[in-house]
Amino acid sequence: MAEKKKHLQSIHVPHNKNTVECETERMPIPDFVYISMSQHIGAPCRPLVKKGDSVKVGQPIGDSDVPMSVPIHSSVSGIVSGIEESRSDNGGKNTLVVIEADKKQELWEGIQAPKAGSREEFIQAVRASGLVGLGGAAFPTHIKYNPKNIQDVTTLIINGAECEPFITSDHRIMVEETENIIDGALLVMKQLGMQEGFIGVEDNKPDAIAALRSMIEQKGNPNIEVIPLRSRYPQGAERVMVYEVTGKTMDAGVLPADLGVILSNVTSIAFIGQYFKNGIPLIAKRITVDGDAISRPANVLCPIGTKIADVVEFCGGYKEPPKKILMGGPMMGRAIFSDQLPVIKNNNAILIFAGEQAWVKEETACINCGRCYRACPFKLMPTLLSSAVKRRDAGALERLKVMQCMECGSCSYICPARRPLSFNNKLGKAIVKEAQSK
Ligand code: SF4
Ligand code: SF4
Repeated sequence: MAEKKKHLQSIHVPHNKNTVECETERMPIPDFVYISMSQHIGAPCRPLVKKGDSVKVGQPIGDSDVPMSVPIHSSVSGIVSGIEESRSDNGGKNTLVVIEADKKQELWEGIQAPKAGSREEFIQAVRASGLVGLGGAAFPTHIKYNPKNIQDVTTLIINGAECEPFITSDHRIMVEETENIIDGALLVMKQLGMQEGFIGVEDNKPDAIAALRSMIEQKGNPNIEVIPLRSRYPQGAERVMVYEVTGKTMDAGVLPADLGVILSNVTSIAFIGQYFKNGIPLIAKRITVDGDAISRPANVLCPIGTKIADVVEFCGGYKEPPKKILMGGPMMGRAIFSDQLPVIKNNNAILIFAGEQAWVKEETACINCGRCYRACPFKLMPTLLSSAVKRRDAGALERLKVMQCMECGSCSYICPARRPLSFNNKLGKAIVKEAQSK
């Protein structure tokens, strides 16, 4: 671990980790699952099954020939009751394979622990598992693990900083699946020829830090070190994590592999540890269910494709009519239009609010306090960026480095005038991309 001069700018947000002591509960299999064919960055999958087909747990039901894709597997055994077109969480088109579960949960015959005799076999097996970045990015993991300069990559960083308020699913993984994390880390390091591993965990999770250190000791003290980090926001953002652990600055457009690093979320690594033992692909997800509209906040392991409404029912239903539903955390999560959408691979939380947190506060005039600038880890100028967005000035947006913005939301959160600064930067990036495409 390199010495750093100082920390990047960060903010304090209320943690609200209400479910931190809630052990993960395995949800009963729902009557139907609705498995989206668009669960990763890249090309959507095409269904491999049709109405009336029998399917088993772990059977591939969607795939694509495009390199930037991963297969999608059935999370239940049962009968395909239809292939439906619907709206996705971002309002786009989405194909759903709808399966009526028979509740027998019979495993698909093709399931077996994969062999990884070579790096190529390992990469192929990671693709076959359906793994994508489970920290929220949904980037196909087999592509991340196969950079052109793999020979220069020496360091695995495992991201255990769960800095978004409310969410505790990664924390629960670290205390409940500690062995899978260390086994997964050792496997990735061996297969990709890495010499060292670091697990970055915020210092407000002492039980996770202790569990990981104890497991590293049990495994004979391999070259993996747990790095306690400040519990500040956005500690878990990729570029912040790389800097805080290695001291290396990662500009937008630079890949971690360019700095000799591969970064994976702790849940992805735990999944790899499990998958190479039993061969069961990515069919279930641990999610935090919380918010003042939820009767019984919990951490729930549910089949991928379970409707959010079914997850809420398992958590005791609504105690008040919901006004705002978030997939993910309040800082970077997406507000969605319905609880009828299904859980997808990179979901790590469902937060549903009915009270004050559901309000969108009215924007007022900028008072030039400078807090947004001081909050930004990359010293961007949110006020100037907003003005450039209003003018649709692509040149100014580029000069102001809008593409460096990681949309962490720190500037919007800290702004006393409630200006949607982070969202403006999203628009600004679109303006720049449009100008570049002409
Ligand atoms: S949203 Fe962008 S501009 Fe705002 S603090 Fe985060 S990185 Fe900086
Ligand atoms: S934090 Fe808000 S009010 Fe303060 S300078 Fe930035 S935009 Fe203006």
